[in-house]
Amino acid sequence: MNGQENHVTRLADTVLAGGYCIGCGACAVMEKAAFEVGLDAYGCYQARRTDATPSYDPATVCPFSAQAVDENRLAEELFPDAPFADAFCGRHHAAYGGYVVEGEYRANGSSGGMGSWILCELLREGLVDRVIHVKPDVSGTSHGHPMFAYGISETVEEVVAGAKSRYYPVEMSRVLARVREEPGRYALVGLPCFIKAVRLLCRADPVLRERIVCCVGLVCGHLKSTCFADFLAWQCGIRPGALRDIDFRVKLPDRPAGEYGVQVVGRDGREEVRARRDFFAGEWGYGLFKYKACDYCDDVLAETADITVGDAWLGRYRDEPRGTNIVIVRHRGIHDLIVRALSARRLQLDMLGAEDVARSQAGGFRHRREGLAFRLHGARQEQRWTPPKRVAPDGHALSRTYRRIMGLRRTLRARSHTAFQEAVRGQDFDLCKQALRPLIRDYDRCYRMSPIKWLKRKLVSMARRRRM
Ligand SMILES: Cc1cc2nc3c(=O)[nH]c(=O)nc-3n(C[C@H](O)[C@H](O)[C@H](O)COP(=O)(O)OP(=O)(O)OC[C@H]3O[C@@H](n4cnc5c(N)ncnc54)[C@H](O)[C@@H]3O)c2cc1C
Repeated sequence: MNGQENHVTRLADTVLAGGYCIGCGACAVMEKAAFEVGLDAYGCYQARRTDATPSYDPATVCPFSAQAVDENRLAEELFPDAPFADAFCGRHHAAYGGYVVEGEYRANGSSGGMGSWILCELLREGLVDRVIHVKPDVSGTSHGHPMFAYGISETVEEVVAGAKSRYYPVEMSRVLARVREEPGRYALVGLPCFIKAVRLLCRADPVLRERIVCCVGLVCGHLKSTCFADFLAWQCGIRPGALRDIDFRVKLPDRPAGEYGVQVVGRDGREEVRARRDFFAGEWGYGLFKYKACDYCDDVLAETADITVGDAWLGRYRDEPRGTNIVIVRHRGIHDLIVRALSARRLQLDMLGAEDVARSQAGGFRHRREGLAFRLHGARQEQRWTPPKRVAPDGHALSRTYRRIMGLRRTLRARSHTAFQEAVRGQDFDLCKQALRPLIRDYDRCYRMSPIKWLKRKLVSMARRRRM
């Protein structure tokens, strides 16, 4: 066995065998790739071995492999002049909360429209020729076939048409293979682990390094399987296989931003917009249909992206139904673009501290810091391999209640995938509901506070306020 085959086997025996593949496709981009990606039975992209003997080491480009350079080292290489380095935001020039004033970016976007705006601004300024982002895949159907995929846009109009968050699996091998064939300067949007994978690919491949000139990161809670879309649609009377389109983020004018709606459109023309909270198990924190890899990730804010955009889940913005972004800027040139647009009043942004940004993603950080420390400790006890993380294993990182919550999240993640398949096979959504309901009841109970605990908290916070 030669050296490269050794690396392939090691990657297959650790990341793939352990279930830590996020299906990004980084290992399948180059010619003679040792892996290909495809949807598995649960609607998650996963890498699979091919017969090829690769001419490169795929372990160095997999964001979850032990051979990959970590986010700190990548950010140090990419943003050496960033004045701030923070345990949550990573290296950065500035952080903001706000939205796009000009055009329809805010109305069309999931949050404040900054995601599409920055991509359009890069095109308008001639800094990139093309944008790689996730758009509806017109050839797709629902159940088992992708409805959204990475594609390339060349005009502002095309970029704008691709706005909105897709809580849906995607992979990059096909689009990045196209980038290797078609010269140009590209910007790419992605979730934290996808951006890390692109940075690792750029380190390994001079062609991609020259062509991908900007990475826009999305804040990430976790990635869902294709079944999440079907799970929502089925509750609106659209069966798996009959879903034509889904908008995961519809702004409801009379509700706070977090209480957004979901729009589903069936192949028969049936259409419904329903508030997220009115779905069975619509709560994001349950972690239904989540990839296992997401439970072994410590990058919430895409620390290797030139700029990251997310939702500003902060008190001062929360009630605004039109949506507000948090924005973390790491690249000096991009910061200059933003400062210019701010002074021309094309954007409305307030300066935020790193602690505000971290607070806006408090749940995500608890899951990916203390929660991850606890999961890593559990894996170590069971002598299971886990991807190397910047968080150390710690069996005491969580209170008893949170330990229970983390355990339930893990069970809900795993059970949601199988329960949905059982419901599809039995052609009865209630089968899925019956399997998940007891777990959800236990989970909700953990968050319900006893009156004594509530009173104690109230007294402590009143005493704190009096001291200020
Ligand atoms: C799976 C997922 C989980 C997320 N979790 C959180 C979270 O926990 N907390 C938080 O604050 N924000 C989270 N976000 C980000 C948030 O939903 C918004 O996407 C973000 O605030 C940008 O909104 P916008 O209005 O600025 O961008 P828009 O103008 O709506 O533009 C969004 C851009 O992102 C691209 N895009 C959409 N989906 C994907 C995808 N899956 N992969 C790559 N590119 C994509 C679109 O093509 C578009 O170009 C998540 C997004 C996704 C896709």
